Amino acid sequence: MKFYSTNNHSSLVSFRDAVIKGLAEDGGLYMPQHIPILTSSFFKDLRKCSFTEIGFEIASKFIEANEIPSNDLKKIIDKAIDFPAPLVKLNDSLNVLELFHGPTLAFKDFGARFMARVMSYFIKNSNQEMNILVATSGDTGSAVANGFYGAEGIKVFLLYPKNKVSPLQEKQLTTLDKNITALEIDGTFDDCQQMVKAAFVDGELKCKMNLSSANSINIARLIPQIFYYFEAYKQLPGFDKEVYISVPSGNLGNLTGGLIAKKMGLPVSKFIAATNSNNVFTEYVKSGRFVPRSSIKTFSNAMDVGNPSNLARINGLFNNDVSLIRKVIYSSSYTDDNTISAIKEVNAKYNYTIDPHGAVGYLALRDYLKNISKNSFYGIIVETAHPAKFKDIVESATCKEINMPEILSNCLEKEKRAVALPNEYKSLKNYLLSIA
Ligand SMILES: *Cc1c(COP(=O)(O)O)cnc(C)c1O
Repeated sequence: MKFYSTNNHSSLVSFRDAVIKGLAEDGGLYMPQHIPILTSSFFKDLRKCSFTEIGFEIASKFIEANEIPSNDLKKIIDKAIDFPAPLVKLNDSLNVLELFHGPTLAFKDFGARFMARVMSYFIKNSNQEMNILVATSGDTGSAVANGFYGAEGIKVFLLYPKNKVSPLQEKQLTTLDKNITALEIDGTFDDCQQMVKAAFVDGELKCKMNLSSANSINIARLIPQIFYYFEAYKQLPGFDKEVYISVPSGNLGNLTGGLIAKKMGLPVSKFIAATNSNNVFTEYVKSGRFVPRSSIKTFSNAMDVGNPSNLARINGLFNNDVSLIRKVIYSSSYTDDNTISAIKEVNAKYNYTIDPHGAVGYLALRDYLKNISKNSFYGIIVETAHPAKFKDIVESATCKEINMPEILSNCLEKEKRAVALPNEYKSLKNYLLSIA
């Protein structure tokens, strides 16, 4: 299997090159040359398979044994995905897919841990040093940093927007030592993302240091985000109804994983792309026009993205045809006030504590299902973060106390360490050159 750049479908690279480069030289994102279809025997045996066995079946379709031998790929998946993705029932038709059981309590652990192990595997015997730049709107950075923490030959630089991540997220980003450095940028997430993109096309920088990206643009982040859609399906009480999956969306990486799962044969009737007030994707699905804009701060801050990079991949999957996109994706957006009401509603109706991102997903699913007849479907809300990560917001909505998982309370006690940089590419470049 080769990988194409979304800017040039005829320039193909190996999986290794796609992972190491992150972003293609022409600025495009890598995508698999074709989407493999799973056989009916895979689905027949699905319930007998463990989560990591499912992961291996899927990953091995994209990553062939000449790139990573099967046994090594199995080991990578077993180590990366060492936590479950349980489907929790709210009622007979509604379910929550909890993707927050990894070490940083957000779904990004899946992609980040898998990618970190794949990259370490590739550079292990190459005697190279790798520098990884990540722009983060909150959760990516800590997931990536945790995935790479202590990895030999790899340094990680996390760019995060000053005052635009939650205090707890900031602690998670800035309290790791060893090979991890946090860069506090006086700008927005989109500014951070632009700076990272600028670094990758900077010839002078590339001559001096080996740079790679670990944003959701890296293809190795995307592949494990396909696994859990199958794992969710496996846990449904029956395979006899329509399936609707609502994905709280920002950079659209999680949604892209689901769309690939569907193309591989997973019987999902509709994906629901839930956005907060940063709703350029919702507007795109509705009008066919894509108008990127600056992101604004919301309670579901990991979705505060004004120019989602994975749109290029979604367009690639649907031949740039918005009418085809509409057949598969419904999208709607919600304000912070809606989000708070939803946290209350889910608590009151289902006795379930949902985080602000999942709450946006809940609203989009609820509204979509208004026109669907009851008992004919299973609805799945993808819950992307543990509610304790947004303790204040969630507790004030539900008036119930949330227990802090130990992993979070530990990092709250540590001291912040970050390098402050102004919002200009030159300062990032100078900083990187000074340590190269
Ligand atoms: C990153 C993130 C999202 C958005 O996912 P995308 O793949 O960027 O669309 C949603 N919720 C949480 C908690 C996240 O960390």
